[in-house]
Amino acid sequence: MEHQADEVDSRPLPESFAPDGHAVVDALDAYYRESVGGRQPVIHQERLARNIEQLDLATLVREGGLAGPRLETFVRDYLAATTRLHHPAFLAHQVAAPHPTGSLASLIDGFTNNAMAIYEMGPGAASIEFFVINWMLEKIGWQPAPVEGDATAPAVPRDGRAAHAADDPPIGGGVLTHGGSLANLTALLAARRQIAPDSWRTGTPNDLVLFAPAVSHYSIARAAGILGLGQDAVWPLEVDDRGATIAERLPAVLGAARAAGKRPLAVVANSCNTPVGAYDPLLPIGEFCRRHGIWLHVDGAHGASALVSPTHRHLLDGIELADSLTWDAHKMLRAPTLCAALLVRDHRTIDAAFQQEASYLFHEKEQPGVDFAQRTVECTKAGLGLKVFMVLAALGERGLAAYIDHEYALSQQAYEYLVGQSDVKCAARPEGNILCFRVAGSDTKQLRIRDALNEEGSFYLSSTVFREQRYLRMVVINPETSLADIERCVERVREIAGGIRD
Ligand SMILES: *Cc1c(COP(=O)(O)O)cnc(C)c1O
Repeated sequence: MEHQADEVDSRPLPESFAPDGHAVVDALDAYYRESVGGRQPVIHQERLARNIEQLDLATLVREGGLAGPRLETFVRDYLAATTRLHHPAFLAHQVAAPHPTGSLASLIDGFTNNAMAIYEMGPGAASIEFFVINWMLEKIGWQPAPVEGDATAPAVPRDGRAAHAADDPPIGGGVLTHGGSLANLTALLAARRQIAPDSWRTGTPNDLVLFAPAVSHYSIARAAGILGLGQDAVWPLEVDDRGATIAERLPAVLGAARAAGKRPLAVVANSCNTPVGAYDPLLPIGEFCRRHGIWLHVDGAHGASALVSPTHRHLLDGIELADSLTWDAHKMLRAPTLCAALLVRDHRTIDAAFQQEASYLFHEKEQPGVDFAQRTVECTKAGLGLKVFMVLAALGERGLAAYIDHEYALSQQAYEYLVGQSDVKCAARPEGNILCFRVAGSDTKQLRIRDALNEEGSFYLSSTVFREQRYLRMVVINPETSLADIERCVERVREIAGGIRD
């Protein structure tokens, strides 16, 4: 760098942003601690118009100068208008109470802005994504991509040529995406490429159908719409009373599809489903799919994290038979949003999923690393790997496993407690950390209870319809939540229910 020294030295350094940075971090630290301590309502929703006014948005845009005391005021007002995920009463949604170190990753990524879909735009971020993908592949039991070897060649050949003997297990692959919905779409694109290799050019054939249980996340039906299959092409699989697929009924649906002149694009299995957190039996589903050459996509956006836990990974027994897996780190791996992974058993399937040339990005180039751009819908892509990596590195793999074990065990205890209450009914015994219950009365009553909890900000629950009944739904995801919190929540639900005339 010597040849540039004069030029660099003569340039004045910019003003430090550290004072503003410290002020923001101090505010977040206070916010974090008062949230964990339960000193503020978990949820507090002002009306939209009042928020815009309270945050003084129009003045700030007109006058600028968001720094110093002005910035402090703004951050204070903003934090007052948040829903507090670190609060022990946060029991609503499948979104992590992020680990503070993971949140620092968001700051680092936002600051450096290394849009790393091509290696040259973020070598560190791309290396971390490669590493995280391999870590996940190992957890699944698929073959990680080699790091060593010819450093100038892509570790994963793009042209579909096998870099290994045909009888070896294929080398896996993956990409981090901005959310599980996008990962599901990408998986189904890869599946479409396998069954209809020309579809990128000629469009989606109209004889393709998708098999998925009706309780699947709506992103599956959306993907069918986006792919041009149409939502009618999603054929529901028969499920048991937990909403889990009955593997023995798969031949019947395949027979019906064939009789109707249809070909299955893929079977979608849930690990676990969103309403009650039930895990589909992957082993018999996987064997069925292998036998018939059908792509098996496992939507593990929420529950694939059980793979990290020696105690709970059996819930995904048979995962190695799948072709693709969606796995969100911003749900059960304590990473801040968004950080999701799409993983494939054979990297060639994702490398072929998007057949489109953008020559300024994809020209044959000599470079010391790999590009992810050809594997994603996105072009500009954040350094998502950092968010999950920094959590992993802070807690260690065993720390993360202990967190998952704790949430799953606590959900069991909460279930035992709930079934002991004569005035409460549960939807199903939880397999993971999603737990649905209802009190006596109508569906409307359950919703009014939730409204009342939200209004007072005491506990934050979600709600779902399962087997034609409305339930209050708990996602036990915050490590600060204890059984006592859940008991208090049920007590409060009961008190509110007592005051509602149905
Ligand atoms: C949360 C979830 C999704 C959607 O993932 P996003 O990251 O919110 O896009 C898809 N499928 C299942 C099973 C989920 O739990």
